[in-house]
Amino acid sequence: MNDYRAPATLLEDKIILVTGAGDGIGAEAARTYAAHGATVILLGRTVSKLEAVYDDIVAAGHPQPAIIPMDLKGATASNYADMAETIEDKFGRLDGVLHNASVLGQLSAFVDIPEQEWLDVMHINVNGTALMTQKLIPVLRLAPAASVVFTTSSVGRKGRAFWGTYAVSKFATEGLMQVLASEFENRSIRFNCINPGGTRTAMRASAFPAEDPQTLKTPTQIMPLYLYLMGYDSEGVNGQSLDCQPK
Ligand code: NDP
Repeated sequence: MNDYRAPATLLEDKIILVTGAGDGIGAEAARTYAAHGATVILLGRTVSKLEAVYDDIVAAGHPQPAIIPMDLKGATASNYADMAETIEDKFGRLDGVLHNASVLGQLSAFVDIPEQEWLDVMHINVNGTALMTQKLIPVLRLAPAASVVFTTSSVGRKGRAFWGTYAVSKFATEGLMQVLASEFENRSIRFNCINPGGTRTAMRASAFPAEDPQTLKTPTQIMPLYLYLMGYDSEGVNGQSLDCQPK
């Protein structure tokens, strides 16, 4: 699906929440979904970055987005419930979620991972994603065919030395997706994972500081799969973990 060519109107009238929408892949996904007709809800922790994405979308003449400033590090189930209620009040339904926000944490030997580091990475990458999804299910149910896309990594499928907390958090993301896909089979919400593969962003540069970023795909180049999984051409696709880049 990496050569998928989305119709220009693929996401017309859709309401799509993107987490970590201020930078990297999330910012590009938000701009791309808006360019295909969606009203995007931009969630992230740095408001100035969300505003810059908002401005790009408005300047391009795409549907006016909404901004939800939220740091997943301190967020609780009750914050997510309030957010879901606000989305329902304002839009009446939610057609899609791209769970993209995550942190890498420190890459270190397992025995050296500080307790707080473990707890913070798991809270943002796993608890935040799971509890947000739980609270959004009622408003997702109001859409005729909703798509929830989680973001995984190759280290979420095969563990790798020194990637402990991040890798475990991505295994959990895959597990969460599988549980939900099975539980909601044949219903109006589908759940899948995307593995972007090495992509030119700040997170990748911090994981591989010696790498030449020019050798990597840009967020723009990996958007076909992000569009495919969010739109009607993937209806019926559920419980899959798909790669943006061939191995
Ligand atoms: P970036 O670090 O470039 O962007 C991550 C985004 O998530 C930023 O906008 C960041 O906000 C936001 N974010 C981080 N922590 C929080 C938080 N506590 N609350 C709210 N928002 C938060 O990462 P990428 O674009 O590279 O990664 C996107 C996704 O793709 C991640 O899930 C990552 O694990 C995954 N991935 C990326 C790969 C790559 O090569 N780039 C490879 C495999 C997987 P802020 O801008 O304020 O920092």
